[in-house]
Amino acid sequence: MMDDYELAIIGAGAAGCTAGIYAGRSGIDAVIFDRGMGGGLILTAPRIENYPGFMEITGAELSSRFLEHARRYADLKLGEEVTDIRRDGKGFILKTTKGEYGVKAVILSTGSKPKKLGVEGEEALHGKGVSYCATCDGFFFKGKRVAVIGGGSKALLDAIYLKQIGCKEVYLIHRRDVLRGERILQEEARDKGVRFLLNRIVKRLEGEDKLERIILKDRASGREEVIDLDGVFIAVGEEPENRLAKILGVELDENGYIKVDEGQRTNIRGVYAAGDVTGGVRQIITACAEGAVAALSSTEILGKKYPY
Ligand code: NAP
Repeated sequence: MMDDYELAIIGAGAAGCTAGIYAGRSGIDAVIFDRGMGGGLILTAPRIENYPGFMEITGAELSSRFLEHARRYADLKLGEEVTDIRRDGKGFILKTTKGEYGVKAVILSTGSKPKKLGVEGEEALHGKGVSYCATCDGFFFKGKRVAVIGGGSKALLDAIYLKQIGCKEVYLIHRRDVLRGERILQEEARDKGVRFLLNRIVKRLEGEDKLERIILKDRASGREEVIDLDGVFIAVGEEPENRLAKILGVELDENGYIKVDEGQRTNIRGVYAAGDVTGGVRQIITACAEGAVAALSSTEILGKKYPY
């Protein structure tokens, strides 16, 4: 049996939740799917300090507020993955891990996933000392020696968090001598005792059954360095979750992000996109804004009015 909705929102992160709120409040019968527990990448943020109205909030707390809010206005289907999507007349058929749904419009808010470093030992030691989520796994490394790889805001925040939860030594390893992350976080990391190893390329991660050491190359001297470690947290950016976009034939940019216009419309009528999957500055506030715009734009094909 097939369930029908007017609008399907795929991904319950900041963009998807906001789209659900705006859709429901515009009288659109909307469903939000998320293959996991919802919340998106925010869940992996130890601390958020730039979302207006909240001086400081954890990623877990903000995402649970987003989900609770969205649930009031849309059917929230967590733990249900959209596995396939195809056009059907003027609408779309979505196949999920639990059923089939017919909808008239779709918002892709599928987000992004952590990028791999691409070095020897990374895959074999994943889950054995190598992690992509400090908030999920950091606690196992209390009292131990860890390193964060990357020079962005995420890497800095992860390093600060790991220091805060009591890791004995926290290194921040970055391939250049200049960090990309916010200045205020750089200062805080230094103040908290994070040890910066700049201009270092990660060559290998080594260990028998678990991570034991990291092999670096100092770009200035060309020398190899070996550091004994219990944990490595990789924070070298993200890549878009664009699998469904590709199935639909949605136009992507050269980095795989979905191309949208100012109304978050893709090249396919009735398909909108919002949040990290569209690239840009990838902030929570911009993801929310894009979700709102996408939902309001969808009123144009759902025959609803929105009083601008
Ligand atoms: P990001 O800003 O894209 O930084 C990725 C870092 O990883 C860069 O320093 C990059 O080096 C490095 N890198 C990439 N590929 C690498 C490789 N193969 N080997 C070694 N290093 C590599 O990513 P992010 O920190 O995850 O942040 C993603 C987005 O979320 C950004 O827009 C960021 O502003 C935002 N964000 C904001 C906050 C906040 O509090 N405001 C917190 C987290 C994230 P290069 O610098 O040399 O390119």
